[in-house]
Amino acid sequence: MGAKIECAKAQKLIQPYLDDELKARACAEFIAHIRECETCRHELETSFIVEYALKYLDDDKMDNFDIQGLLEEQIIRSERRMQRRQVLSVLMWTAIILMAVLIAGILIRLFLPDLFEDAAHLVSRLH
Ligand SMILES: [Zn+2]
Repeated sequence: MGAKIECAKAQKLIQPYLDDELKARACAEFIAHIRECETCRHELETSFIVEYALKYLDDDKMDNFDIQGLLEEQIIRSERRMQRRQVLSVLMWTAIILMAVLIAGILIRLFLPDLFEDAAHLVSRLH
């Protein structure tokens, strides 16, 4: 994460983002860019408004909608989802590594007890 993407790339991601088609990594890069880049943020706003207007064209509630607020909400939702995903993946990797260490430890003790004795021998001989 934190990888910078260019405006051209970010703007290509606007529609997929609105369609909720971005993979986690692309989404993270996109949001990071939107947070920093005024130009792309405006592009996103415009697309968001168009999208929203098309969806709710028949709805006369449209005037009351706070489009910027809605967009901000959507971005925050994306950020929360990414944070959750990040926490989950950190937890998952921690569990996997712990398991691997545990299993490796058990296997070494089961099948290579000589290794420890040899090492102990070596160490004691060095002293
Ligand atoms: Zn940009």
